[in-house]
Amino acid sequence: MGKTTGFIEISRKEREYESVPSRLKHYREFIKPIAPDEISDQGARCMDCGIPYCHQGCPVNNLIPEWNDLVYKKDWFRALEILHSTNNFPEFTGRICPAPCEASCTLNLTDNPVTIKNIECSIVDMGWKEGWIVPQKPKKLTGKKVAVIGSGPSGLACAQQLARAGHIVTVYEKSQRIGGLLRIGIPDFKMEKKLIDQRIKQMEDEGVTFKANVFINENKQIEQLKNKYDAIAICTGAEIPRDLNIENRNLKGIHFAMEFLSQQNDRVAGKIIKQSEEILAKGKNVLVIGGGDTGSDCVGTSNRQGAKSVKQLELLSEPPKKENKLLTWPNWPMKLRTSSSHEEGCNREWSVLSKSFIGSEGRVKGLKGVGIEWTKSSNGSLKMNEIKNSEFELEADLVLLAMGFLHTSHNGIVESLDLNLDKRGNIEANESLFETSSRKIFAAGDARRGQSLVVWAIKEGRDCASSINNFLLK
Ligand SMILES: Cc1cc2nc3c(=O)[nH]c(=O)nc-3n(C[C@H](O)[C@H](O)[C@H](O)COP(=O)(O)OP(=O)(O)OC[C@H]3O[C@@H](n4cnc5c(N)ncnc54)[C@H](O)[C@@H]3O)c2cc1C
Ligand code: SF4
Repeated sequence: MGKTTGFIEISRKEREYESVPSRLKHYREFIKPIAPDEISDQGARCMDCGIPYCHQGCPVNNLIPEWNDLVYKKDWFRALEILHSTNNFPEFTGRICPAPCEASCTLNLTDNPVTIKNIECSIVDMGWKEGWIVPQKPKKLTGKKVAVIGSGPSGLACAQQLARAGHIVTVYEKSQRIGGLLRIGIPDFKMEKKLIDQRIKQMEDEGVTFKANVFINENKQIEQLKNKYDAIAICTGAEIPRDLNIENRNLKGIHFAMEFLSQQNDRVAGKIIKQSEEILAKGKNVLVIGGGDTGSDCVGTSNRQGAKSVKQLELLSEPPKKENKLLTWPNWPMKLRTSSSHEEGCNREWSVLSKSFIGSEGRVKGLKGVGIEWTKSSNGSLKMNEIKNSEFELEADLVLLAMGFLHTSHNGIVESLDLNLDKRGNIEANESLFETSSRKIFAAGDARRGQSLVVWAIKEGRDCASSINNFLLK
């Protein structure tokens, strides 16, 4: 621990945002970085607790007190080495991780946790700026070949770890561009895509081959991969969205969130979208159904496109504004979270059930819904009851369905390899071996764990790579 009295003397300082009117004019990141000297002061606030609960909170088990101390001592290079020892892509998590580590920080007991995420981001940004992040080529090759299917954060972390261990790694990706949801789902204003490009370049220099535009789907293709490779990692994500099968669902103007978001990311990347296929919020009353992160990204994108109004509906009841620390700490608390996109303009409503869409000439014009209340039944499970006389109608000309994702696709790979699935439809593989019911086939990330977070995908990719490495060297 660098400064024993740091947490008493220095206040928590967060990164500031560009003003709302200014950031709504573009799709770039809008968080203003903090000067390195000030970040060093923030590192000095870490108490180096005997039991660092932040380790437990962070899915990749980042060695947080160690790098906080090094940042305080201005040894940024060593801080970067330690950060990279647990996390392949801290520039991703330093931007878009919800930071469960900060919820677990002991200083969060007084609502002033160490700014762990900002410090992580500053370390790795400095690493790129200073040219410290270079390819880590393996000292010798094993001659073993591994195919990774899917290039999201789990596939990338898995591929990088395996290549560094000396295996010959090929990543297959069905999209035109590498990166999974980092590339096509998460908006540029949360994470700019040049960050993925520089990692891909590093990985190529480390020996990873990327094959984009290759959809692994046919029995014959999968058989060929099995014959060619010594192991295969399935990192295909949880792509199947939850639908809302209510009356008039087939009206024009009702889309899954990912159709809308991926199109905007393509536009930012310079792709020309056919006019007949464009989904745009400009001048429309936008209704986002689903209160999570994906919904929030739809809100931010709609406002940037110039929506007339944006409303977000959530089935669950409004969480408390503040958690009861003594009941929740050091765990991740259920509480009201207002994202930067919400701050840009959005009317949120909780405890509402969508009943049917209203249309005119084949296009959506609104939604009929009803208010609900949640009660606990005798066995403790939550029960939804409609509130009498609470029916309502809303105007909407663009509806975005953002109610989460069910599981990975069961067609193609899963069907062809006859893989066992868990109760939720995810590929079954345990958390220590990551091996599926089919020999030499492994699974990681959202495909195995279900819809989750980038930081969990990185963790799964790393651990799956370690298991594949043991399997190959047996
Ligand atoms: C809109 C949105 C916003 C999000 N925001 C955040 C956030 O702010 N912070 C956060 O931590 N998490 C966020 N998440 C969640 C996070 O993006 C995912 O948990 C994470 O990307 C999962 O990583 P993955 O590698 O398992 O899968 P994915 O990122 O889904 O990647 C899977 C890849 O596999 C490819 N693929 C699938 N099938 C095949 C096939 N048969 N052949 C070839 N390729 C195939 C897909 O094209 C895709 O590129 C968000 C998710 C969404 C949808
Ligand atoms: S990866 Fe997420 S949980 Fe881990 S230290 Fe970074 S912000 Fe915190």
